[in-house]
Amino acid sequence: MNADVVVVGTGFFGLTVAERLASAGRRVLMVERRDHLGGNAYSEAEPTTGIEVHRYGAHLFHTSNERVWEYVNRFTAFTDYRHRVYTTHRGEVYPMPINLGTINQFFRSSHGPEAARALLAEQAAELGDRTPANLDEQGVRLIGRPLYEAFIRGYTAKQWQTDPRELPASIISRLPVRYTYDNRYFNDRYEGLPVDGYTAWLERMADHPNIEVRLSTDFFDDAQPVSKAAVVGQVPVVYTGPVDRYFDFAEGELSWRTLDFEQEVLDVGDFQGTSVMNYADEDTPFTRILEFRHFHPERDYPRDRTVVVREFSRFAQRTDEPYYPVNTPEDRERLLRYRELMTAEPDVHFGGRLGTYQYLDMHMAIGSALSMVDNQLTA
Ligand code: FAD
Ligand code: UDP
Repeated sequence: MNADVVVVGTGFFGLTVAERLASAGRRVLMVERRDHLGGNAYSEAEPTTGIEVHRYGAHLFHTSNERVWEYVNRFTAFTDYRHRVYTTHRGEVYPMPINLGTINQFFRSSHGPEAARALLAEQAAELGDRTPANLDEQGVRLIGRPLYEAFIRGYTAKQWQTDPRELPASIISRLPVRYTYDNRYFNDRYEGLPVDGYTAWLERMADHPNIEVRLSTDFFDDAQPVSKAAVVGQVPVVYTGPVDRYFDFAEGELSWRTLDFEQEVLDVGDFQGTSVMNYADEDTPFTRILEFRHFHPERDYPRDRTVVVREFSRFAQRTDEPYYPVNTPEDRERLLRYRELMTAEPDVHFGGRLGTYQYLDMHMAIGSALSMVDNQLTA
C-alpha cells in the first residue's frame, strides 16, 4: 500500500488530520463508507431549485477558537449569517434561546433584567444548593420549572426519547439563557456559513496531491484492500467511525440517536420566514422545520419555490446513521471499557464525534484533530 497513514472517515475530523499530515509531506489514504466525502456536514443543491440543503441536518459554523478560525479560513470565506431560532409552543411563536423577550412574552410581563432574574431564581428554588445532576435538574436550575416545562422538557423528550433525568446536564449547559433581548443562538466570537457551501469547503481540504480518497469503501469490508484486517499494524490508522463498531460491539452497543428528514419542495417563496422553527410540544411529532433558503439570503434563489425539511428524532438501530451519543450512565460505563480496549491498539487513533462518542460541534472536531496531529501523529 502506497500510504504512510490511513484515515477512516472523511468528516471534518478525518479531513483536518489528512490535510495537516499531507501538508507535512505524508501520503494519506482516506476511506469513506458513503458515496461522498464530508461526513455529516455534507451539503448539496436541491436539483429543481438550486437551494443548498444540508443532507444530514442544519450545520451552523461558529467558534471562539482563534486557531480553528484561522485554519478554516484557509479553505473558505464565511458569510455574515447570524443564527436565530424561534420555537412554537401551544400555537404561539417565541424567540429561542430563552431571553428577556421569551420570558416577558411567556409571563405576559414587562420585567427588566433584575426582576426577570429574581423571578426565575424563585422558580428554581426547589433545587436548593444542589449541583444539578442531570438535564432535568439543570433545566430547572437555569430557567425555573414553568419555562423548562414549556420549552425544554417536551422538545428534549422528543429529541432524545430518554427521561431527562437520565440525560447529562451538559446537553443543555450549552444553551444560553439571556437577560437581554439578544436572541442570537450562539455566543461565539466568530460565526458564518461557507460562502460557496459546505461541500466546496470540504473538497478543498481534500484537494492535495498527497491525499487519496476512496469513496464507497467500508473499513470493515475485508474484500477491499484498505480494510481493518489489512492495515492495522501495518501503518498508523486514524479512525473516526463509531467506536463500538470498531471493536465489533465487544462491550455492548453504545446508544445513539438518529434523525429522519422529510424534505419537500413547496410552491411558495417563503414558508416560515426564518431558517429554523422548533416545535416545543410533544403532540407535534417533529422537533423542527428547516427552511434552507434563509441560510443564504445573499444568494439569488428562486422567489416562488422553497425547500423545507421536517426533522424527526429516534433511537438508532445498528443499520441507521448514528448522529448523537445518548450518553446514559450505562453508556458512559461502556465507553470506559472501550477506552481500555483502545489502549491495546497503540497505532490506531480514535477521533471525532463517533470515534470518541462525544457531542462535538464542527469547530471542536477540527480543534481536536489539530491537537491529535500535534500530540500523537507528528510529535
Ligand atoms: P462525521 O462528520 O460523522 O464523519 C465521520 C465519517 O466516517 C462519515 O463520513 C462516515 O460515513 C465515515 N465512516 C464511518 N464508519 C466508517 C467505516 N466503517 N468505513 C469508512 N468510513 C466510515 N456542528 C456544528 O458545529 N454546528 C451545527 O450546527 C451542527 N449541526 C449538526 C446537526 C446534526 C444533525 C449532526 C448529526 C451534527 C451536527 N454538527 C454540527 C456536528 C458536526 O456534524 C460534527 O462536528 C462533524 O461532522 C464532526 O465530524 P467527524 O469527522 O467527527 O464526524
Ligand atoms: N433544547 C430544547 N428546546 C429547544 C432547543 C434546544 O429543549 O427549543 C435542548 C434540547 O435538549 C437539545 C439541546 O437543548 O438537545 C441542545 O440544543 P441544540 O439546538 O444545540 O441541539 P442540536 O442542534 O445539537 O440537536
